Amino acid sequence: MTCEHVTLPGGGRAIVCSSRRRARCACGRPAPLLCDWKVPGKRSGACDKPICAGCSTKPAPDKDLCPEHAQAYQQWKDERMTPWQWWWGHDDGFDTCEVYICYFPTRDAAIAAALHETQPGDRFHVIEARSSESLKHDQADVIPFLRTRNHEILTNGPQAAST
Ligand SMILES: [Zn+2]
Ligand SMILES: [Zn+2]
Repeated sequence: MTCEHVTLPGGGRAIVCSSRRRARCACGRPAPLLCDWKVPGKRSGACDKPICAGCSTKPAPDKDLCPEHAQAYQQWKDERMTPWQWWWGHDDGFDTCEVYICYFPTRDAAIAAALHETQPGDRFHVIEARSSESLKHDQADVIPFLRTRNHEILTNGPQAAST
């Protein structure tokens, strides 16, 4: 909340408070986004620095980071990568834990789980990825894949079961 003293047309004075200031990014452009970097101890739990789309870094859909925290994020990512693990996922997206629900030690295990969870004829993805150790145990709703390889699209059916 910000409050200002204003002089009224009749000469009186008043204090006007508004809970919503027009936020500006550090670069000067209007800032429709807020930094989502977690800051313990702040009431909202996040940095909340206003940022424009041009200055935002998106670690995941619907997440934005201010330039300062984009740097912190990069540093943290480099440090907290998991070993390669196998993941499987449904057909409607990539690169997040929401889609690749579980991880497995081997490709066969991932495929077996996928076959169990999908219907015959459903397409699914298997991928080998390195994720982030600390996000996985956090309440973050999306786990980014930091590195990926061996991505395949398979169909639940005899050919997938036999490979
Ligand atoms: Zn900006
Ligand atoms: Zn920030």
